Parts: sequence; structure tokens; C-alpha cells
Amino acid sequence: MVFESLSEKLQNALGKLKSKGKLSEKDVDVAMREVRLALLEADVNFTVVKDFIKKVKERAIGNEVMKSLTPGQQVIKIVNDELTSLMGRTEVKINFSSTPPTVILMSGLQGAGKTTTTGKLANNFKKQGKRPLLVACDVYRPAAIKQLEVVGERVGVPVFSMGNKHNPVDIAKAAMEHAKKHANDVVIIDTAGRLHIDEELMDEIENIHKAVNPDEILLVLDAMTGQDAVNVAKSFDERLSITGVILTKLDGDARGGAALSIRAVTDKPIKFVGMGEKLDELEPFHPDRMASRILG
Ligand code: GDP
Repeated sequence: MVFESLSEKLQNALGKLKSKGKLSEKDVDVAMREVRLALLEADVNFTVVKDFIKKVKERAIGNEVMKSLTPGQQVIKIVNDELTSLMGRTEVKINFSSTPPTVILMSGLQGAGKTTTTGKLANNFKKQGKRPLLVACDVYRPAAIKQLEVVGERVGVPVFSMGNKHNPVDIAKAAMEHAKKHANDVVIIDTAGRLHIDEELMDEIENIHKAVNPDEILLVLDAMTGQDAVNVAKSFDERLSITGVILTKLDGDARGGAALSIRAVTDKPIKFVGMGEKLDELEPFHPDRMASRILG
């Protein structure tokens, strides 16, 4: 189950408060120490945890809560509210251009799930009645173009490719012309992934950016990598000013550290989450639902 281990620990820590008719400051302190530990063990960013605990405590130790008839429930409500706030509060949708085509640049490190997610997004848009075009701009791994073509075929969305003899900027420009001619209203550009962040990769995405002026730059991150994912998000955002994150492999993430830290660290929203390998396993990210799911 998603966030299973985090969920269990938080529910344990907070469950003890539930049954108490009256809460002392010490009760809250003890519970918050356990919550803090649970979040750190879930690989949530250290500063994020510190701020979070401080906010919850400030609100929980107030008179209104302590003197209420169900103080434990109130504290749990505050934790739920602050968790929601940590993840950005409300769903942030894709920013569709008022003058189509909407252009979406996909970025991310190899293995994060970029190609799969590109296919999932196309599938999603197609189901909404749009006419997406996928663009193969990863010219370094011959298998990458093929993989995108396979994904495109599976979701019934065309893939624009010029092989690997052209540079990605020229491919992206040609794809834009193609999209206009064929009335594609969403262009999703799959860029090269690397094993590590490097200057060349950043330069290349920046150059494609200049050529096509995208409406969205989405960064695909593997949730299972916890704080590494958060650090990747920070680096990409500093360099490319991303517009959002898609967090993959949440279906296998028991801890939740990346999901809980990314918004607070980068101030960029998680727009979708990957919930499995299949091409229909992409969900919009709802911070409120996610918080309730964690607290059970
Ligand atoms: P890329 O190198 O970033 O393009 O990554 P791929 O799209 O090739 O994905 C790498 C692996 O992660 C593949 O085995 C995918 O099936 C898998 N994958 C991608 N997204 C998800 C997801 O949301 N959940 C799970 N369980 N696996 C995923």
C-alpha cells in the first residue's frame, strides 16, 4: 500500500491521543516526537520536518484545542491540515495554452519513468478528447525512440521522430510544424534522460525550451528514491524553472519522503502520480486526499 510504513507510524503516534479526554502539553510533545521520527524515517527533508512539527505544535497547544471536548481529534485534524498544506493544498492542473498546441517538455533522469509517463499523459489527454502528438527527442539511446514508438502505439497516439541523426532542437521545431499541420493540440516532447545530472543535459533542454517555448516543463521523478528525488528536483528547478513534477512508482513507495518534501522544498506542484506500470495508471495529485490516506 502507498505510504504504508509512514501511515502505520503516524497512526500509532496519534492514536494514543485519540482516547484522551484531556491533553497536557506533555502529551502533545510526546506524540510530536514520534511524528517527527516517523517523518524522518520516511525520508522527509529535515528542514521540512522541523517546520512541520513547529507549526503543528503552535496550533495544537493553543487553548481552544486543549480545552475542547475532543482534543486528540483536534490535534489529528491539525496534522491532517498541515500535511495537506505541505503537499500544496489543492490539485494543480496542466496549464493548457489558449492558443493550441499546448507544449509540454518532459524531463528527468534515466529510469525515473519518463517514457512511460509520457505515454500515460498522452493516453490521459486522448481520453479527454484531445489530439496529442508525442515527440522523440532522446537521440542518444536508439532504444529510447523505439520505446516511445511502442508506447505511442499502445495508447493510439502518433509519435513524431526523425531518428537519431538530427539534433533535438531541430526535431522539436519540425514537430511543432507537424503538429500545426495535423491539428495536434498537445505536443509532448520526450527529452534525453541521463544517469546523472550534467550540464550537457541541462543545456539541451534549455535549448529545446528556447525553440518551442513550452507551456509546461514537467520533471519526472521516482518516488522510491526519496531525498535523492528531492535533490534532483532542486537542481532541475534552479536551472530550468520547472512548472511541475510527476512522481512515479508511488505504488511501491511505503515511505512517502519525496511526496511530502518536493512542494515544500521547490515550491513546485506535484501534478500527477504514477501508480503502476500500466499506461492508464496515472492519477492527478490531490494533497487533501493524500493526507487523509496517510492518516487513515
Ligand atoms: P525512463 O528511462 O525514465 O524513460 O523510464 P521508463 O519509462 O523506461 O521506466 C522505467 C521503469 O519504471 C519501467 O520498468 C516502467 O515500467 C517503470 N515505471 C514507470 N512508472 C511507474 C509507476 O508509476 N509504477 C511502477 N510500479 N513502475 C513504473
